[in-house]
Amino acid sequence: MTLHHTQMFRRVNPMSTGDTSKPQGAGNGTSAESPAARWRARANYAERLAGLSQTVLVVDDDPDNRLLLSEILRQQCRVIEASSGAEALEIAFREPRVDLILLDVMMPGMTGYEVLERLRSDVRTADTAVIFVTGQDDENEEEKGLLMGAVDYVFKPIRPAIVRVRLANQLKMIAQRHQMSLLLGRDALTGIANRRSFDEALERIREVSIRSGRAFGLALIDVDFFKQYNDSFGHPAGDLALREIAAVIAQFATAPHQLAARYGGEEFALLLPDATGLAALLDSLRRAVLDLGLKHPTTPWGVVSISAGGIATHAEPDTHADDLLRRADALLYEAKRAGRNRILTRLDSF
Ligand SMILES: [Mg+2]
Repeated sequence: MTLHHTQMFRRVNPMSTGDTSKPQGAGNGTSAESPAARWRARANYAERLAGLSQTVLVVDDDPDNRLLLSEILRQQCRVIEASSGAEALEIAFREPRVDLILLDVMMPGMTGYEVLERLRSDVRTADTAVIFVTGQDDENEEEKGLLMGAVDYVFKPIRPAIVRVRLANQLKMIAQRHQMSLLLGRDALTGIANRRSFDEALERIREVSIRSGRAFGLALIDVDFFKQYNDSFGHPAGDLALREIAAVIAQFATAPHQLAARYGGEEFALLLPDATGLAALLDSLRRAVLDLGLKHPTTPWGVVSISAGGIATHAEPDTHADDLLRRADALLYEAKRAGRNRILTRLDSF
């Protein structure tokens, strides 16, 4: 069986940039002179020199400001530069490792506020920290930016010591959050995301969908006749089966921001920022679990199977996460009633 849907995305290994001796763009048709190749080469070089693990995107239309900010920050993080809002968005959407964006408010074409709005409307960047850089020492402007979700402000003229400290504070908090989510977000038995992570991710995708109007996919998955499996083979065997099934489900959520989670007991969940092909994907998953060939004494087909209920939908401001879960759960229940080892999906028209 081919997991064709995963091949649409290129998985970027966060560990792969540290030891590579040439820019990532080389060898795949990217010209060494292109801005993308240049910033990758520069970033990789700086990272290798300093062993830095966090990345800051500096966005300013003024080259002198960019240079100054980059020079200030180079000691404490990897720095990428963008000279416009459009370029900043392009880099932020493509580069999976931007931890923080230092964003000039006043830029021709697209203001910093517009850039922040666009960042918040895309699941890839909805959580990326933004610090505004502004010459307007104006409390109302500052409040507006913070209400929009900026984490902090720095004012021009740039005072290097202040910028360094504000950046260091934010980068430290971001690193701690990453650490915490790794510690708190995993299910101990299966190693995939737990219900807490799933609920957070669902909330995030719901908010992004309200802003962007874009559809996403949500599926609830349940192992069929699992109680009988445990009764026949004992709980240790049941745990092993759950681990194997979790590993299969995780293969269907390898692209950025796709999430496979253990929802509880023998129930799992999938979250897909792009709902395209949801039914086909779930049916591939169903067959992949059958293909594990885990012997089951009481299923009609002799092996462990799953049922799933999936929805492809977009969220309105009054759509709650519970509504979405209830809809997927109702479909799962229908799939169970209809005989198990099957999937049911509902695709809203958009
Ligand atoms: Mg400017």
